[in-house]
Amino acid sequence: MNSNKLYINGQWVAPIKGGTFETINPADETLICQVAAASSEDIDTAVKAARSAFDKGHWPKTSGAERAVFLRKIADGIRAQRKPLAELEVKDNGKPLTEALADMDDSAGCFDFYADLAEKLDSNQEYPLSLGDTRFKTKIRKEPIGVAGAIIPWNYPLLMAAWKVAPALAAGCCMVLKPSELTPLTALKLAEIADMAGLPAGVLNVLTGLGKDAGAPLAEHPDVDKLAFTGSVPTGSRIMAAAARDIKNISLELGGKSPFIVFADSDIEQAVEWVMFGIFFNQGQVCSATSRVLVERPLYEKLLACIAQQAAKITIGNGIQEDTLLGPIVNKSQYDKVLAAIEKGKQQNARLVCGGKRPAGFDKGYFVEPTVFADVPEDSFIWNEEIFGPVVAIRPFDSEEEAVQSANHSRFGLGAAVMSKDSMRCERVARALRAGIVWINCSQPTFTEAPWGGYKQSGIGRELGEWGLNNYLETKQITRYNSDEPW
Ligand code: NAD
Repeated sequence: MNSNKLYINGQWVAPIKGGTFETINPADETLICQVAAASSEDIDTAVKAARSAFDKGHWPKTSGAERAVFLRKIADGIRAQRKPLAELEVKDNGKPLTEALADMDDSAGCFDFYADLAEKLDSNQEYPLSLGDTRFKTKIRKEPIGVAGAIIPWNYPLLMAAWKVAPALAAGCCMVLKPSELTPLTALKLAEIADMAGLPAGVLNVLTGLGKDAGAPLAEHPDVDKLAFTGSVPTGSRIMAAAARDIKNISLELGGKSPFIVFADSDIEQAVEWVMFGIFFNQGQVCSATSRVLVERPLYEKLLACIAQQAAKITIGNGIQEDTLLGPIVNKSQYDKVLAAIEKGKQQNARLVCGGKRPAGFDKGYFVEPTVFADVPEDSFIWNEEIFGPVVAIRPFDSEEEAVQSANHSRFGLGAAVMSKDSMRCERVARALRAGIVWINCSQPTFTEAPWGGYKQSGIGRELGEWGLNNYLETKQITRYNSDEPW
């Protein structure tokens, strides 16, 4: 594959300064390959290519139906390479193969979904607006926002690319995509697939590189009209500051510390299953992971015992092995951060129920046992900070009011979950929770049709669904004086 090249203006080119960085398999710490490291000069070339494709090219003037053809070809291209792409994702990221395969399906589905929306845009791109003053006639028109820069994280490498590339192309924008330096490989494959689909030169550019050397110049580039970012709060804050200088449109999908409220009338098997899925899926490296669990006191000790029992049964291993349920953490630095958070949990008097260390028998790879802490103090690090690993913090509660208050006591507001057999209570709690996504009697299911994004420091704006498309559209008012009366 073209891992030592950048995809700019429909060509695979070497980085101007010739730099590379390594990408490592987190399951065995071996080098996968060297990857091209873009610098600000490469970013500038790519933004200029995207600018030219937008300002002088045909792409923004195509109909939605024409763009849908390319989007569907990309979806088909992902499906045609489903297994090798998923295996590449496992190598780069560590996630279990079954989860990587699901990511490939979701990525292809995302391109198909936005192909449908691109077609629909043809019929609702312009619509009339009634005015009180009938001498004027106004219509509203949706137009592509221009050149979009996308910067994405490593936890869902191809899927996060799809969430941004698909709606941007559907809207008629041109894009420069910078994947995470920890997992750059499937984004390069996406460029190959887009190239094979015949996407016009400059419409999609994919540049691998480090955050400071490639991400920052993209965020700061004056010719970028819109920035779409998914990643951590500190980087999101930097992106927002960079965007402020040129008043760029931004959407930010940031971190979380999502609560899960389990009432005592819940089915215990369901509760165990969803609580575990909510935190151990993708090794807990999920922005919306329900990493803070509040359990009504009568169910508390029983639920803890059942979770500990089930956690011990989770098969840990290289994601490529078919029976693996929990793979390694993405890299050494994240692994060290997760272990340091576990130590803080112990120091701050949380009760370690199970896990808490590297599993026995693993000499290589960044593996961490599924870890459960109970009686976690409300002011402790592990109750408040995103760990981004398979570590869940659990506390008991005695009233609905206390549970909601504790759940909302966070600077984040991405996801939240509530479980109870009382559906009225679930509805009441769902409304009271300050989060962009609330799950009732489940945790984590994500749908391409539904809006995704957070309250508070979890971000700005929404991706997916029609909201995702609107991220890449401007709204124009066209008003005509339409009267014979002299003005
Ligand atoms: P990160 O912020 O370290 O990196 C994200 C991206 O930003 C990478 O591509 C990186 O190279 C780039 N970057 C780093 N510094 C930059 C700079 N100064 N300027 C421009 N770009 C820069 O985050 P991460 O560790 O890759 O991802 C984990 C975080 O992402 C977690 O906090 C998680 O919650 C969040 N996340 C959120 C969502 C969501 O939908 N809300 C989804 C996935 C991940």
